[in-house]
Amino acid sequence: MKQLSTLVLLGLLSVSLNAQKMNSTKKAIVASVENHKENLIQISDSIWALAETAFNESQSAEVLADYAEKKGLKVTRGVADIPTAFTATYGSGKPVISVLGEFDALPGLSQKTVPTKDPRIDGAPGHGCGHNMFGAASLGAAIAIKEQIESGKLQGTVKFLGTPAEEKYFAKVWMVEAGLWDDVDVNVSWHPGANIEADVQSGLSLIDFIVEFYGQAAHASADPWNGRSASDALELYTTGMNYYREHIKPTSRIHYHIQDGGQVVNVVPDYSKIWVRVRDPKRKVMLPTYERVKKMAEGAAIMADVDYKISLVSGIYEVLVNRAGGEIMQKNLELLGPITYTEEEIAFGKGIQKATGKPEVGMDSKIEPLRETEKNPGGGSTDVGDVSWNVPNINLSVTVAPKDTPWHSWAVVACGGMSIGHKGMVYATKAMAMTMADLFENPKLVTKVKEEFKTRKGDEKYEAMIDGPPPIGNN
Ligand SMILES: [Zn+2]
Repeated sequence: MKQLSTLVLLGLLSVSLNAQKMNSTKKAIVASVENHKENLIQISDSIWALAETAFNESQSAEVLADYAEKKGLKVTRGVADIPTAFTATYGSGKPVISVLGEFDALPGLSQKTVPTKDPRIDGAPGHGCGHNMFGAASLGAAIAIKEQIESGKLQGTVKFLGTPAEEKYFAKVWMVEAGLWDDVDVNVSWHPGANIEADVQSGLSLIDFIVEFYGQAAHASADPWNGRSASDALELYTTGMNYYREHIKPTSRIHYHIQDGGQVVNVVPDYSKIWVRVRDPKRKVMLPTYERVKKMAEGAAIMADVDYKISLVSGIYEVLVNRAGGEIMQKNLELLGPITYTEEEIAFGKGIQKATGKPEVGMDSKIEPLRETEKNPGGGSTDVGDVSWNVPNINLSVTVAPKDTPWHSWAVVACGGMSIGHKGMVYATKAMAMTMADLFENPKLVTKVKEEFKTRKGDEKYEAMIDGPPPIGNN
């Protein structure tokens, strides 16, 4: 125990030593975040408790928009024809630095703030991706910058974008199409995670589409010859996709979710429905695979002698990395130093690890050197990708859960509603606002970040993978 408190003390000492290296703007930012900390925690906790899923986040969006308005930002609600999307801006002129915040939850992950699986409300949604902290921290960073613009320390415009429906439908694609980043020089973002790093890894591009088969119903035993089965088509379709897996690039993924396979056993089903997703670290590789998988739907329909319809849901780009931006963020992480935890928090973290079968090592909050950017990253996908092909994006990951925590699970929900999550959220607020301050104070950095963006984008023309308005009300 003595050893631990010495460690904590050393940690605090190095933090305060680093804090001395901060310029006056950064010191003011840290003070501002400390000042708003309790409100930000309250916002994060109320969004955590609301746990609203994609396009249903009306109260969560309002919690954030209302606070932004109270703090003197100009709020525009319902942007991009999405009721839960909004912007909050302050200041005037260049540069325009934006920060985006998500706030949607995942179905079925309700959980109390305890380190063993224990739903708060059976079957209800939960913040298994930490988006309650995501939105609160990003808004906190925008407010810290607003206060520096107001006091005359910084000049330019800060823009917070409330971006709903990240877990399903990818609303940022419609927000990009609505031109909401057109006036922005650099965008900053973060994501809750199990480590702290200036994130210079990409992610996977993906496309979502729905296939429906339409057959002819008949009695399954008395006159099956009169039936044309939509579920036969569905099974033939998934069989085709599963054979095709052998021939796709090792980096690619095919997923599907059967949404309707008929209702009862004694009827030949006249309708079936499946949600299909294709991914690859490169959109260019993903698209031909998508074309093949679409063609298989036609093949399956011919075999079962049924009709079919394919509807695009949406698709997203892989993230366009910006290392120049990552380097700015990295320096600020080094200034902030690691997060320190109490013995109770470490015990909570180890409890989560015990319950999920992981080594009981607690939280990882070290600041490692900036990593190399992987050519073919694994992991998930995010609609921040579409933002990153339109403006340079600087990304951050901050520890809000113990090492190796299964993501999109009850364990993340548990941590996101208590002090381990709160500490990560406050840390992210500071790191993003400090990075934004660098961009405001140093135009050369903005130029450098923009130049890298142009080089990486090359002659690729951005094309949003959507077809019509956002599917609001389809949940
Ligand atoms: Zn997420």
